[in-house]
Amino acid sequence: MKKFFAMLIAAMMILSAFAALAENGTLTMCTNAQFPPYEFYGDDGETIVGIDADIARAICEKLGYELEIKDIDFDACIPGVNTHKYDFAAAGMTVTDERKEQVQFTDTYATGIQVIIVPEDSEYESIDDIVADKGSVKIGVQQATTGDLYSTWDYEDEGLGTVDRFKSGGAAVASLQAGKEDCVMIDSEPAKNFVAQNEGLKILEAPYTTEDYAMAFAKDSEVYEAFNAALAELIEDGTVQAIIDQYIPAEAAE
Ligand code: GLN
Repeated sequence: MKKFFAMLIAAMMILSAFAALAENGTLTMCTNAQFPPYEFYGDDGETIVGIDADIARAICEKLGYELEIKDIDFDACIPGVNTHKYDFAAAGMTVTDERKEQVQFTDTYATGIQVIIVPEDSEYESIDDIVADKGSVKIGVQQATTGDLYSTWDYEDEGLGTVDRFKSGGAAVASLQAGKEDCVMIDSEPAKNFVAQNEGLKILEAPYTTEDYAMAFAKDSEVYEAFNAALAELIEDGTVQAIIDQYIPAEAAE
């Protein structure tokens, strides 16, 4: 009799595990899909592809979830996650102490480098060179990114220049091309894409700073732990690196 109950309980546990899997449903990711190669629109003009999208898809597949991706402004990602409008944000997002107060981050899955884009004929080697020569600098950034934070702290707050904040990195680059900025501070991989796609720009050799990317969840998220465990496994088994290599050819990576 005891054995029968033990088997019954085991059978019920297996059944409920299946039920949980079937009920997992959909996870909603938010991102700003103008950040190649981490997130951008694929050839069909509709599907969001890129390193973040592919890693998120692989995690959801592992956990039995469908993935839905919403393209929103970068600065709306953290508030959107915190109000549970989205389950998580995967947006080439840098881990910072300030953001850690608002959200919890997964393990780090990529390294980001902040770089400076200038006109191709520029002879400056750093933002400080620009300040030394012109007395002040105009920096274009994507609003609420770390490029915005560093430019604000290091130059605007110090009285060394002004920061023009745009909804997307592309808009900041367009303003630089229109001659309205001295430079743009942005993550290196999108920077390479923008410079390749736009005439007359180059990236300064000296990187501004290096940072870690992670995905962000609300602090009370119920899926965070399973999601992060699945990510850790995909990092461990090489899947994440294979996805990154697909978008960033090894010889081009810094
Ligand atoms: N890595 C930068 C940040 O987290 C930029 C991210 C982005 O623009 N998508 O602020």
